[in-house]
Amino acid sequence: MPNKRTEISELGEFALIDRLTADFAPSNATTLCGVGDDAAVVDAGGGEALLVATDTMLEGIDFDLTYFPLKHLGYKAVTVGVSDILAMNALPGQIMLSLGVSSKFSVEALEEFYEGVRFACRELGADLAGGDISASVTGFVVGITAVGRAKKESIAYRSGAQQNDLICITGNLGAAYMGLHLLEREKRVLKDVAEPEPQFGGYEYLLEKYLRPCARKDIVESLAEEGIVPTSMIDLSDGLASDLMQICKSSKCGARIYLDRIPIAKQTTALAEEMHTDPVIAALNGGEDYELLFTVPLAMQEKVMRMGGVDVIGHVTAENTGAYLVTPDGSDIRLKAQGFKE
Ligand SMILES: [Mg+2]
Repeated sequence: MPNKRTEISELGEFALIDRLTADFAPSNATTLCGVGDDAAVVDAGGGEALLVATDTMLEGIDFDLTYFPLKHLGYKAVTVGVSDILAMNALPGQIMLSLGVSSKFSVEALEEFYEGVRFACRELGADLAGGDISASVTGFVVGITAVGRAKKESIAYRSGAQQNDLICITGNLGAAYMGLHLLEREKRVLKDVAEPEPQFGGYEYLLEKYLRPCARKDIVESLAEEGIVPTSMIDLSDGLASDLMQICKSSKCGARIYLDRIPIAKQTTALAEEMHTDPVIAALNGGEDYELLFTVPLAMQEKVMRMGGVDVIGHVTAENTGAYLVTPDGSDIRLKAQGFKE
């Protein structure tokens, strides 16, 4: 009998990772946390741990070079890598970059990419410490690995959220998603125009959030200043719904978040209205905002509010209650995870 063939789409990204990595229980005592969090945690001795995270960005899947400047792509690659280190409540130290490059790129084009990398590294205090470049026939490929360091007791895993904890969000959500949609719209509209002049008036902020998102090192520093170690944390790369579900799954808890407390920028709402979409959908399912989602005990509310730029959007509930979005009229909408963002 032939072996059963399962399509990747039947599982989706998260179930696929679970299935492929199910038989990889750590065998080294230094592996404090393996697959299943934003970064791996490796015991470094002396009460400290190293954090290691890796990401891949593919042309045509994760970015479109017809409107993505290489300088911004270099910057964003560092953000994507370092954001996973910050999501463990750790600070970045080093990054490694592996590129797949076809002959359509000149040396000068690659220098532009590295200019963005240099800029982000300087902002985030990370050193480019190595990497690799190989030839590619399928477009531009970026592999980024980020390394960080933290005291073991200050690391925030996805698994520590407790019932009644507050669910906190930094910045605002959905802006990157609307930025991407604006770029895609202009690409469609200007496809056959000889000298295209895209119309981005008033929406530059959304483009910036998509093309050149900042990793929230400032938040990890403010948490340290206030003496807060979040009970759980994740960076918002896949969208609020999906990322909150990851916390719920790892922490074995439920959640209630309130629609009218989700921070959405006015440009996000304005463009969503113009494009006849719902800004809440952008915030819930959009992803790529690279903001941080974290939980803290109820007693820390005052400290969290003192940090600035943080909103409390709900609280952690018992596992059997599930994860819900509560609308202003009081109805409950069950949250669903996504993954493999287009
Ligand atoms: Mg992450």
